[in-house]
Amino acid sequence: MNILNDLVNKHNFYRESTLNLQASENVLSQSVREALSSDLASRYSHIMDSGINGYGGCRYSEEILSETENLMKKLYGSKYAEVKTIGGHVAAEVAILSTMKKKENMLAIGENCGGYTGYFGNYIPSMFSINSYEIPYDAQNQEIKYEELEGVCKNINPSVIMLGQSFFVKPYDMKRIREIGNECNARIIYDGSHVMGLIAGKQFQPDALKYSDILLGSTHKTFFGPQGGIALTNDEELSSRMSFNTVWKTMDNYHLNRIAALGVAAEEMLQYGDEYASQVCKNSRQLGKALEEHGIKVKYSPWYSYSHQVHLSTENEGRFGNFHKISQKLEENGIITDREGRIGTAEITRMGYNEMGNIASLIEESLLGKDVKYNVKELRRSLKMRYCR
Ligand SMILES: *Cc1c(COP(=O)(O)O)cnc(C)c1O
Repeated sequence: MNILNDLVNKHNFYRESTLNLQASENVLSQSVREALSSDLASRYSHIMDSGINGYGGCRYSEEILSETENLMKKLYGSKYAEVKTIGGHVAAEVAILSTMKKKENMLAIGENCGGYTGYFGNYIPSMFSINSYEIPYDAQNQEIKYEELEGVCKNINPSVIMLGQSFFVKPYDMKRIREIGNECNARIIYDGSHVMGLIAGKQFQPDALKYSDILLGSTHKTFFGPQGGIALTNDEELSSRMSFNTVWKTMDNYHLNRIAALGVAAEEMLQYGDEYASQVCKNSRQLGKALEEHGIKVKYSPWYSYSHQVHLSTENEGRFGNFHKISQKLEENGIITDREGRIGTAEITRMGYNEMGNIASLIEESLLGKDVKYNVKELRRSLKMRYCR
């Protein structure tokens, strides 16, 4: 019996023959995959408060952890890096536990404006017994309403202002937010889950950490790593609180293979990150323009996007159906997108493809009901991973 290996092979073959435009995903280089499937995947290492490792056989795995921390610090220019968190969500839990007490208030960008669902209602706030309120936000222009935010802060006295979005196309005025935060004594946390690779490449919100207390996020969306999370800070006390809130609080073992793979990805980012991130952002802007030229309505014309995401407009519904329908039509032709109207350029850019006019044309033809399966497959076959050794 080998049902699962068969299914995995089928999945690999399927996704290797499709074009991935999912904004939350990316591809791993061969070296990152090697680290991820190494012996480390079934090992433990845990240095206790006493300074002694509770496990044996860790002479290399201890070094792997500290090297990966060092590489991440170097990449983001931070004093401290917590790399153990196994997802952006867990990194956010750790950061909130380290900055907030029960019954305190947090501000975050609302779900209706593209904010992260986890920061509202029955999710993180109910788990940690905190309250969350929305940051006033102008969805049309994708901008925080800074003056209104000042007022809201005076009223609800937040202990944390949580920045970042899942639908994320425009950076913030960080200096202004820091000033507002200082006035009401709030910590600023920047959830850069979607854009960690673009921040590392200095192409999106390069001042994210400069004006915040914690920069956290996923390591696999625009970043080159395996699925995981990271939290960076320059504050020694926050750093030690975050370490304390990681192991034995929000999680136990931190997956040594993932840490090693993250370290390899950080090396790739240090070498190629700037070039990659700049091409990703260029491609998004061009894709927005090209889609409109092909009769597909895109939000935020004429600038479209400063990140790796382009957002389809609901105005397409009459002609092509809702976001779910659009995504299904594309998937029939081997073009993979999420069901929420986001189109991402990170993975195709990593695969060395920059002809956004062509992508727009394949999308248009799919939506018009034409069969472009073969063209998509041929295009995918011609791609080769870039920005790695
Ligand atoms: C994706 C995302 C997360 C969750 O990240 P995981 O790595 O999947 O745990 C958290 N916050 C934002 C803004 C996200 O987009």
